[in-house]
Amino acid sequence: MSEDFTPEFLDEMTDTLQEQRADLINKSHVARADLRAREKAPGDSIDESVDEQGTSTTLRLKDRERNLLTKINDALNRIDDGDYGFCENCGDPIGTGRLRARPMATLCIECKEDEEREERRLKSGNPGMFSPIKHG
Ligand SMILES: [Zn+2]
Repeated sequence: MSEDFTPEFLDEMTDTLQEQRADLINKSHVARADLRAREKAPGDSIDESVDEQGTSTTLRLKDRERNLLTKINDALNRIDDGDYGFCENCGDPIGTGRLRARPMATLCIECKEDEEREERRLKSGNPGMFSPIKHG
């Protein structure tokens, strides 16, 4: 076996993931408090336009944060199950370097690159419904 995950490494990843989860939850609380504060104190017209953008950013962020939270929880579950750190596609160890950089990674670098290539291929192979038609 080229690479083995030591209990110390798994502990390290658990810490990292739990930290990121706490961070995420913290941030979403801050965003919500921020939103409430702005509702309570209506500003002038300049502030209002900023407000609209700020609100939509907060909503977008919440969606992304929810996704991230799911990924973090999944990773923590995999650590519990002993499945953590192995590629979902080929079963190879993902590698400690890649996991330290991306603790939620579920694919090894080769499979990830394959996936991205495939996505690009699908996108370029599909010109879309509204390809422009030129007359004359
Ligand atoms: Zn793989």
